[in-house]
This record gives sequence, C-alpha cells and structure tokens, in this order.
Amino acid sequence: MEKQTIHGLTPEEWMKRHPAIERITRAEEVVWLNPKYQSFNDDRASFPLSLEDIKDAAARFRRFQPLIATLFPETAEDDGLIESSMIQIPEMQSVLSNHYRVDLPGKLWVKADHELPIAGSIKARGGIYEVLKVAEHLALDHGLLEPSDDYSLLAGAKARALFQQYGVMVGSTGNLGLSIGIMSAKLGFNVDVHMSGDAKEWKKEKLRSLGAKVIEHKDDFSRAVTEGREAAREDPYVYFVDDEWSRDLFMGYAVAALRIKKQLENACIQVDEHHPLVVYLPCGIGGGPGGVTFGLKQVFGDAVHCFFAEPTESPAMFLGLMTGMHEKVSVGDFGLSNRTAADGLAVGRPSGVVGKMVEPMVSGMYTVRDDHLYQLLRQLKDAEDMYLEPSALAAFPGPYNLIGTSAGKEYLKQHGLNEEKLINATHLLWGTGGSMVPDDVKQADYQAALKK
Ligand SMILES: *Cc1c(COP(=O)(O)O)cnc(C)c1O
Repeated sequence: MEKQTIHGLTPEEWMKRHPAIERITRAEEVVWLNPKYQSFNDDRASFPLSLEDIKDAAARFRRFQPLIATLFPETAEDDGLIESSMIQIPEMQSVLSNHYRVDLPGKLWVKADHELPIAGSIKARGGIYEVLKVAEHLALDHGLLEPSDDYSLLAGAKARALFQQYGVMVGSTGNLGLSIGIMSAKLGFNVDVHMSGDAKEWKKEKLRSLGAKVIEHKDDFSRAVTEGREAAREDPYVYFVDDEWSRDLFMGYAVAALRIKKQLENACIQVDEHHPLVVYLPCGIGGGPGGVTFGLKQVFGDAVHCFFAEPTESPAMFLGLMTGMHEKVSVGDFGLSNRTAADGLAVGRPSGVVGKMVEPMVSGMYTVRDDHLYQLLRQLKDAEDMYLEPSALAAFPGPYNLIGTSAGKEYLKQHGLNEEKLINATHLLWGTGGSMVPDDVKQADYQAALKK
C-alpha cells in the first residue's frame, strides 16, 4: 500500500524537515522561532508598503473623526478617535509568574483593543478603515465631498441616499462581520454579512438589529465567500471586503503602531535597543497581527519583537510560515480539526499575502490549548477584573514562553536580550476582543473556566 503523503511528503519526512510538526499534529502547545526572521533595518526598501502608507491611512482616520464623533456619540469625548488604552496588569503578572513558576522581568501590559469603540475588537481598526475609505471615494467621486470639508456632512441625507445605492459584502466567522456590518449600516450601505455556521448567535442578532443582512452557511462557508467575491467583482454597486487579502484592512491595523508610539511616549516608556518592546498577537487569518507587526517594525525597527499566537487546533499561520507554503497549506492537511473556543482565531488557512509580507518580521509563533485559554480567562478576571474573549487570551502565555522555554531562551540569546535589557522590557499582550460580548456569555465563559 502506498504511504499517505501531505503535499508530497510523508508525515515522517515533514517531521524531519520541521521537528515542531510532530507536536503540532498532536495538538500540543509548541513554541517556534522563525528562522526567516531578519533584522529590519537591512530590509526597508523591499516591502511593498511603507511608513508613508501608514501615515496616509492615519490621516484618513483623522479626516473622518468629526463624522465618527457624530455617528457614534460614545467616541465624542475622544473627538471620534477610535483607539484603545494600554493597561498595566501587575496583579496578573504575579499570578502568571507563580503559575508558570517563571519570574518575568520587565513589565506586563495589555493593549486593550477589546475596549475599542464601535466594534469591541481589533477589527474596529481594519474593518472600519476599509468601509470609511469606500465611503470617502464614493462621496468624492459624486461631488458630495471635498477633501477639505468637515466629513461630518457624510452623516447627512444626501450622502445617505448615495450610500444606499451601494452594497458592502463580507464573509466572516464573527468579529470582522460585526465591524464591517456596524460601520456600513450606520453610513447607510446595504450590508450583507456571510457567516459560518459556528458564528456566535449574539453576533448575528446584533448585526440584524442594526439592519445588516446576515446570511448563514452551515457547511459551505468558504464557497459562499468565494462566490460573494466573484459576484462583487462583476457588480460596480457591490464592494467585497476580502479578509484573505485586503490592503486597506492591513493598513487600518498598521495605524495602531503610530498610536502606540505616542501612548508609550506619554507613559514615559522608552523603546530602543536597551528597552525592548515585545508584542504578543493572537492570529487568525493574519491580517490583524500582520498589519500591526508591519506597522510596529516601521516605527521601532529591531527594538520591537512580535510573536503570534494560535490555538493548538488552528495553527494556520504557524504551518504557513514554517513550511513556507503559506495559503497552500491548511490545518486539516495535518489532521487538525480547526475547532476551538477561540472563534476569532478559528482559521484553517492563512492569508498568503500577509504571510509572505511579514515572513521576515515575525519573531516566532506559539500555540495555546483551549483549556489553557479558559484558565487564563479566569485568572485575568480574578486578578484584574478584566474580561477578554477566549481568542484574545492566546497572547498571554507569550512572555513566559519567551523567558521560560528553551526556544524562548534561544531567542533571547540570539538577539542579545540579556538580563539588563529584560528588566527594561515592556511586554505587550494584544487584547484583541471582548467588550461587546453579552454579560450572560461572559458569565458562561467564566463558569466554563471554573470547570477546566
Ligand atoms: C480577528 C481576530 C483576531 C486575529 O485577526 P486576523 O486578521 O484574523 O489574524 C484575533 N483576535 C480576535 C478577537 C479577532 O476577532
């Protein structure tokens, strides 16, 4: 009988090539260093996007602030700025140091994207940016807007009448649909959100209540997305937001880097060769963490180190980067289920464009089991009275993996991150979502965590 192969290699051959594969296929937690990681400064010219593109995106967000403040009164206090705070979590740091029996030098912080206004997740960056850009182009093309105008006029009847002629379409397992749906519906677009069967019920309800059309797909979700993409290509009145590769989503995420630079300065936190910034990002298809990493590298260069986290059952970007096969590989190829409580990360196949772009920028990857996510959910709630959705908790083991595992220690050695630098380090966990989760679901999560 012929031996079964995966993309032309037997499992044994895969393991020989990449020893981590063995534990990945057993759905165990793994820490991996990216051998293609490069010093950023050597490489600046070869990227298709630049710091200028990020500044351009930031300027677009600024132009829209008066409109955002008008449409979403909860943002008025910040003049329509869609941004989250950085929160230091010393109690959680000591709980985790005890739990993992590793003393973490430096300081532990959360980037509180779960509190982002409008959508309550990191998707409020990319998703909203893309919809705003569509609206801006339409309004400019139709003579409703001059670049120097106060954009709050887009909340008026004329703009609404224009947007109502257009449709926005997105396929999403959850948070992206929420972000695109809320923003599009608010502006007056007709919005169709295609959702997979396992999308959370409250997300569908929320979208419907705001006037979005939710189309559910039990088994044929990826086909529905492909068909939606094809249909939109033919129809000038429909705009398809492509999670797999959208330059605009990516740029919307990348703007976070400019904002963080300012926040760190305001908090008098230094970031340079002697004061490393280590960032831990939960990863689904890759656009969110990829965009943020791309931005951070432009701003901080080699002083920032970015690690991506995935569930043990959905290590899509992990397999894509490690095998170098990117979007050609899926977690199912290696026998994994892609079933996880971290619904924001339940992605079987990574974005190839993102993977190739951030290949030299990602320091490493690690995976986290679902029961571990719940344990972290409970610890964070108890220690800091903070709720994050399971996906967002994937970031949390990162600093301890760096300090406490042999792979992590190897990384520290390779990059000269000695004791002195580590004492000065800022560890930033990206809290990618959670504040829009209804209270009963939050409580059910906590109860579930008690049983793990
Ligand atoms: C979408 C999402 C991510 C990851 O973003 P990708 O672009 O899919 O990689 C992480 N956490 C949460 C809560 C998300 O909704």
